[in-house]
Amino acid sequence: MELIVATKNKKKFQEIRELLKDTDLKVTSLLDHPEKVRIVENGKTFKQNAVKKAVKIASAFKTLTLGEDSGICIDALGGKPGVYSSRFSGKNKSDAANNAKVLKLLADKPKSERGAHYTCAVAIADAHGVVGVVEGKCCGVIGNTLKGSHGFGYDPLFIIPKYKRTFAELGPRIKHKMSHRFRALNKAKKIIQKYIVERAAS
Ligand code: IMP
Repeated sequence: MELIVATKNKKKFQEIRELLKDTDLKVTSLLDHPEKVRIVENGKTFKQNAVKKAVKIASAFKTLTLGEDSGICIDALGGKPGVYSSRFSGKNKSDAANNAKVLKLLADKPKSERGAHYTCAVAIADAHGVVGVVEGKCCGVIGNTLKGSHGFGYDPLFIIPKYKRTFAELGPRIKHKMSHRFRALNKAKKIIQKYIVERAAS
């Protein structure tokens, strides 16, 4: 069965495909479906945005779809940037500009005040609507400088206390065993399995 991941973000898709490789699903992304479908990402929560993406694409393509919305919540910034993580630095957004803004805002904060967590919401939908919604979190600390070259987004700043290394230094082998995305997708896989079994029985 095909599962469309409602994203055009190549790095995010690469991670999701890797995390779903133990399933029988044919995992595709919006890059494999060039027909334009406009998704307005204006939800106030990660779950709302994940549902919007999944429902819109599932109803357009009549195919089981996974909507994913994720971001970083920084304690000292009252949980910001949250759902605005990808556009934190504004119009000319980029991972580099987003990270520079975080470093600037936390410049005077000691390690004890640099706590943060990633959140990943995953929604599964088919042509009839939402099948399920789940969330995964991963806690860390924001570093003082960018370190490492793996991953994407805020990974060069996101230190995993257990390893005293950023996700960008640790690389996919470790990130994929503990990330917010790994945790959310493990729950989503159970929803998809149940959906397939129930569909086969009906
Ligand atoms: P979305 O495409 O609106 O869900 O944007 C997610 C944004 O959150 C990304 O552009 C990154 O800035 C950030 N983000 C989410 N997950 C990760 C991750 O695993 N590593 C680093 N940054 C992430």
